[in-house]
Amino acid sequence: MALKIKRKHTKSVKIGDVVIGAERPVAVQSMVKVSTANAKEVIKQINELEKAGCEIVRVAVKDARDAKAIAAIKRNINIPLVADIHFHYRLALEAIESGADKIRLNPGNIFKKEEVKEIAMLAKARKMPIRIGSNSGSLRGNYLKIKDVGIALVRQTHDYIKTLEDFGVNNLVISLKSSDMFETINAYRKMSRLCGYPLHLGVTATGMFYDGIVKSSLGIGILLLEGIGDTVRVSLLGDPIDEVVVAKNILSGLGVRKFGPKYICCPTCGRCEVDLRSKAKELISKLGNVNKDLSRTTVALMGCMVNGPGEAKHADIGIAFGRDRGILFRKSKIVDTLKEERCIDVLISQLNGGLK
Ligand code: SF4
Repeated sequence: MALKIKRKHTKSVKIGDVVIGAERPVAVQSMVKVSTANAKEVIKQINELEKAGCEIVRVAVKDARDAKAIAAIKRNINIPLVADIHFHYRLALEAIESGADKIRLNPGNIFKKEEVKEIAMLAKARKMPIRIGSNSGSLRGNYLKIKDVGIALVRQTHDYIKTLEDFGVNNLVISLKSSDMFETINAYRKMSRLCGYPLHLGVTATGMFYDGIVKSSLGIGILLLEGIGDTVRVSLLGDPIDEVVVAKNILSGLGVRKFGPKYICCPTCGRCEVDLRSKAKELISKLGNVNKDLSRTTVALMGCMVNGPGEAKHADIGIAFGRDRGILFRKSKIVDTLKEERCIDVLISQLNGGLK
């Protein structure tokens, strides 16, 4: 049974062709993990991310070469591109000129009034949204003296919002990330009460791979359950595709978005006589991560014939494996017995042919 989540109404903000906020679908974001100046590799990674379901992508802009590369990257990708700027306000100006769809500024390291004003004026002229991206690691000055990091993040960010608003910018997206899940949750809760700008959710510097999945799932998940959040990025030490897969799983697990198909796979046990993990990998690689036509379909891969069909009785279709073979079942009713090597292909052809 899906939970009914009442989303908090936020201002709508257009990033390239994607509009976030105002109860629109929570967008999936990720970040490129190669040098932005290496446009060829960046384009390849972004196009792979898009295929996996990424809807907005961010690149690090650390110097003028990175900022310049944005123009070539933009010509070869289909999803909005966000330029991530720290310390050097001129890079923000260059990234805007180069064609970024949004810039992310860190209030902890670009804060001089005259510099922020220059960015604000150009962004306003170009109708370019700005994400104010605060991190617990880059709190500065008096904000560092506040004991409660969540409150410090909110105060620093809120003051920055006011500064940008004073310069006439109100096309904003906000994030307040800490590596501590509870600080992150508290900061977003408070900010959600204070402002109506869309919130980009994430827990930062999440630790080792599995720590990252758990922290992000809990942190982002709790906020989404409270109706908070308009976009998400799962920060993981690893392949950015995994960030997208985990983000989509958080969203679909909560029923906030539907990405198809939904999978039921057993964990396997001593009864299993097949390498079920490699069968699952084969299925994903052949079917792809995203298939909008199958957004309402549940597919099962089970490790044995005795319990598989029964344990996956909610699945629309599935395979339960035995030694050298598998049974194809629909809603727990067996419809065919297949040689093991044909199972995945037959399952895919059934899925692609519709399940009527
Ligand atoms: S479906 Fe079969 S193999 Fe899988 S966990 Fe259950 S009993 Fe074990």
